[in-house]
Amino acid sequence: MLVAGNWKMHKTRAEAAGFCRSLRDAVAGIEGVEIAVCPPFTALEPAVEPLHGSSVAVFAQNVHWADEGAYTGEIAPGMLLDLGVEGALTGHSERRQLFGETDVGVGRRTVAALEAGLRVIACVGETDEERETGETEAVLARQAGAIRDAVGPHKRLTLAYEPVWAIGTGKTATPEIAQEAHAFLRGILDVPILYGGSVKPDNAAELLSRPDVDGALVGGASLEVESFAAICVAAAAA
Ligand code: PEP
Repeated sequence: MLVAGNWKMHKTRAEAAGFCRSLRDAVAGIEGVEIAVCPPFTALEPAVEPLHGSSVAVFAQNVHWADEGAYTGEIAPGMLLDLGVEGALTGHSERRQLFGETDVGVGRRTVAALEAGLRVIACVGETDEERETGETEAVLARQAGAIRDAVGPHKRLTLAYEPVWAIGTGKTATPEIAQEAHAFLRGILDVPILYGGSVKPDNAAELLSRPDVDGALVGGASLEVESFAAICVAAAAA
């Protein structure tokens, strides 16, 4: 079971350090759950220091495929390792939708990060319109298939199923919808699969009790220690 908190574009360096000190104490007694936080690039270093030696890992929110070079605005895998960062998200729907990231690019980012020694949570998920028009499985097969074709199963690779219509909307997928999508994805790529999309303390236990749901990727509810720790507690009980 893995619970990862995606902070998106939130928290200064001081806020990140304070949050991580509190989180470290709040989750110290939780067993059987891996926990990760994904701060923005500028807050990675202040998050790494207080979490060093704890059960909480620090992941970046994205990573580029090249070691270095003329890629303005990008961050290389080695730069993250240099900070003590353990992993990265790839293919988050906001990267795909707002910044034009493609399946091929997500595959390249994922494989380069894994080869460099990072862990990766690669995100996939359909839009509202794609679900309405019956394209969910085709979209998941295309997105997860691109990651499988680039990498194949890998011990440091995790998928996150994040239906776009459930992200930041308060419209959580039912546990049945999540289970169905996770079982479908596992047939494409047999790695742990997190559910993401409006996970909160009061719906986490039910979602995480489904057999193919191996954890959660949490956005909004990961910004407060209390709600994020409560989701980690629910994961430990699931
Ligand atoms: C996310 O952005 O990965 C996410 C799941 O956000 P939220 O929990 O706010 O829906």
